[in-house]
Amino acid sequence: MHVDAAPLAAGYDGLIVDADGVLFRGPVVVDHAVDSLTWVSEEAGRTWGVVTNNAAHAPSDVAAKLQGLGFDVDASRVITSPQGAARYLRDHGVAAGARVLVVGGPGIDEALQAAGFDPVRELDVNSAPGYGVAAVVQGFGPDLRWADLAQAAYAIEAGALWVATNADLTLPTAEGLAPGNGSMVQAVGNAVGRMPDAITGKPEPLLMQVAAEQWGLQRPLVVGDRIDTDIRGGNRAGMDTLLVLTGVTGHDQLSALREAAPQDRPTYIAGDLRALRAPAAHCRVLEGTESAGADELAEVRSLLRRAWGD
Ligand SMILES: [Mg+2]
Repeated sequence: MHVDAAPLAAGYDGLIVDADGVLFRGPVVVDHAVDSLTWVSEEAGRTWGVVTNNAAHAPSDVAAKLQGLGFDVDASRVITSPQGAARYLRDHGVAAGARVLVVGGPGIDEALQAAGFDPVRELDVNSAPGYGVAAVVQGFGPDLRWADLAQAAYAIEAGALWVATNADLTLPTAEGLAPGNGSMVQAVGNAVGRMPDAITGKPEPLLMQVAAEQWGLQRPLVVGDRIDTDIRGGNRAGMDTLLVLTGVTGHDQLSALREAAPQDRPTYIAGDLRALRAPAAHCRVLEGTESAGADELAEVRSLLRRAWGD
């Protein structure tokens, strides 16, 4: 049997899945997501877990939401961008027990604590060096105040390592586009005259690497709905990627992918997660077969195949 006749998910030892736009949209579960991932764990015997840039919620909160929607997943299968920040600090010489200034939501405190750091919300202005903190971790938090940004600036100016959980400039809300964490990071950056030492969220490959390591995956498939975060991040981590059209990327945006740089090209494109059970050749873009994917995306794939093949 040619390998591509096997179900797509069976060609990998696990899946690293984005949450928003892949598993749910706001409070609503995405069609076919629960059935497809139940099949992945129970029939195909593959691990799957969630990697999200969202810094506002702890893994246990994300897992609880997913369980409420019908997914069989626990907190050990959820990696958030603050966990990536904790990992970065550990890898860059910040000692266990070190005080770390938190700017953002409670998910950051929890991730730092779990990694053995001491998250604090106030600088010790009498303490040198760095006002008593070794690092600053900055992520989205709806209750952020000017005083929080000011403290971050003071600590960074005094030599603290500075890690941001993501650099998204905008945050879509029901009322319109609001400033995202990247805008708050730039506010601090304007004061200190430089940008963060690291950004841990997608499209940086760090979260994917942390997930693969924690879940013991050698050859995972990254699944997401955004080109500039999920697909780029997966490609940068050297992993194959599946783009699904259940979130921010619509069918009408696919032909623009002809111009995409190699790091923004998904290995597979599919309407939804049912593709995981279908033969891999059906939604593979390069080296797919013209006749195999007899769905509404077949034409787009062959267009991209010709454009990228040149
Ligand atoms: Mg998404």
